[in-house]
Amino acid sequence: MWEPIIDGHTDYVLSLFETGRNFFNESHCGHVDLPRAKRGGIGAMLTAIFIRDEYLPDQALARTLRGVDFLFRIIEASGGAMELITSASELEACLDRGRFGVILHYEGAEAIDPEFAVLRLSYQLGLRSLGLTWSRPNIFAEGVGPQDRGRGLTSLGRALVRTCNELGILIDVSHLNDAGFWDVLEYSEKPVVASHSNCRALCPVARNLSDEQILALAKKGGLVGINFHVGFLRAGAERPEDVRLDDVIAHIDHIVELAGVDHVGFGSDFDGATMPVDLADVAHLPRLLETLVRRGYDETALRKICRENWLRVIRAVWRE
Ligand SMILES: [Zn+2]
Repeated sequence: MWEPIIDGHTDYVLSLFETGRNFFNESHCGHVDLPRAKRGGIGAMLTAIFIRDEYLPDQALARTLRGVDFLFRIIEASGGAMELITSASELEACLDRGRFGVILHYEGAEAIDPEFAVLRLSYQLGLRSLGLTWSRPNIFAEGVGPQDRGRGLTSLGRALVRTCNELGILIDVSHLNDAGFWDVLEYSEKPVVASHSNCRALCPVARNLSDEQILALAKKGGLVGINFHVGFLRAGAERPEDVRLDDVIAHIDHIVELAGVDHVGFGSDFDGATMPVDLADVAHLPRLLETLVRRGYDETALRKICRENWLRVIRAVWRE
């Protein structure tokens, strides 16, 4: 059996909320439910709360709280099979016990007010990871995409970075524009992650990272979570059959060759993107691990990619 996997980015909350499917029943819809996650070897998932554009800006907080409440009710209904993870020791115990760990992540800081009251209260609720933007501008930063005017973090954005460092909330630079990326790297005193981004050297899209960015993340002690979205693996890919496991492995190989095996993990984007045929859902993860082994990744390397690198960053950033 494989090491329990920490997956750095998934959107199953939005998928469950919008489709009404049940997390505890195996489904053919979406990419994640509890039975399939177990078969896939998942130990914990950074679980995104994402707000669609139509609710911004006025309903950002209300929709965020609704998402958190929805997630908490799923955890409660799991009867102990799932647990909210708020410390590194809880995460390690969760992996050892074979439960499904939920790490609360906001994909975009639209719900956060300029005085950070919502951030502090969200920390109390269990928030341990924050993306400063999704691919759109807000009061803190600009995202990649058509609205990117090339500006870095605002002064509020820099204060947000400091406050996340103080609280022990992991900062995620996926979806930030390049100027914002470099500002976060400059202002954060703790390691940061790109939870679900790939390599521009292999697939030149704005959501991926340049070699320079990957090296800077590594130097800061962070990591890149490999995203399985077809369009971020191979330029121009749109359909599941356009991409093979080889393409996923090429991105892993590239980061390992460039920055070392300590700086890559998984950040699937399950339930938020188009998956390759061979990774059609979370239950397909063992196929990827088997292929990595065939390509010469040994037990130590695999353990780092599956869990240890995420654990190392989390231990360095969270307060306990
Ligand atoms: Zn995303």
